[in-house]
Amino acid sequence: MILPRDASLFCLFLTLITTSCTFASNQDANNPHQDDLLPPLESDFKSYPNLANITDEERALFHPILKFPTHFKKIPVLDCTQATGLATESQRKRSKIRDKLFGLVWRNVIVNLITDSEVVRKVPWKSSKWGFGKYDEDRRAMYTSSVFDAENVVDGYSGARTVHLGIDLGAPVGTKVYAFADGVVHSVGYNEGHGDYGFVVVIEHTLPLSSTKIWALYGHMDRATSRNKSPGTPIQKGQVIGGIGDCHENGGWSAPHCHFQVSMRPPMTHDMPGACSVQDRPIALSEYFDPRYVLGQIY
Ligand SMILES: [Zn+2]
Repeated sequence: MILPRDASLFCLFLTLITTSCTFASNQDANNPHQDDLLPPLESDFKSYPNLANITDEERALFHPILKFPTHFKKIPVLDCTQATGLATESQRKRSKIRDKLFGLVWRNVIVNLITDSEVVRKVPWKSSKWGFGKYDEDRRAMYTSSVFDAENVVDGYSGARTVHLGIDLGAPVGTKVYAFADGVVHSVGYNEGHGDYGFVVVIEHTLPLSSTKIWALYGHMDRATSRNKSPGTPIQKGQVIGGIGDCHENGGWSAPHCHFQVSMRPPMTHDMPGACSVQDRPIALSEYFDPRYVLGQIY
């Protein structure tokens, strides 16, 4: 059949559309990280893939990473989608002076008393420092420093990185941070960028039941975290690996906290992308799993 020229062009157009739709759907079928298979942002515990297959039984064997005061019925969950959170230059200067004058007593005596004594932990201190920052939360209003710029690539992750890949454990400066399981130090150091991790340690943990290896990053820590550690240093479950850093040492964040992130692959160095772009979210969630599989249902 001979069609008029316009009708032939129309048929060609239809064929192209059909072919490109088939190609797109085949691509989706071959892509295991389709967006529509992912849970929405800020989903509930156990909505995300359990990449390390951590069972409730295994989780019960882990040591708490922080010892929260026991008088809280529920630790507040913070909304980190609004504010920038970065300390000013003068706040960082004040924090350095405060540390020089009172750091020794505060970190070695008072904080030890608060976090180690079962009696003192029951005292209802009025402190706004305790809290949780969510995994898989889009923080585009917070991640404004150059550390999160599109050209600053971390372990292959680029673009405007705004989706949080760890959980933040907010606590007063100096609060002890514990290893949740046995392992060895993978890397330790200081990430100096404004808005980066400050003092940071990555531990290669071996899970107690499955013997699976995972890499955990503990970021925004204090200077003591970097002492007596180098790659290969053995770490025992429950060992103090450092303390929560103040804003002159934690990368410049005004609210003291530990950024806890877990990875299925070793990082290149003492760094992991603490946030990824919206475009990279599918692949990021297949590498950095929900830390609640370690921490339990904290929110
Ligand atoms: Zn964080």
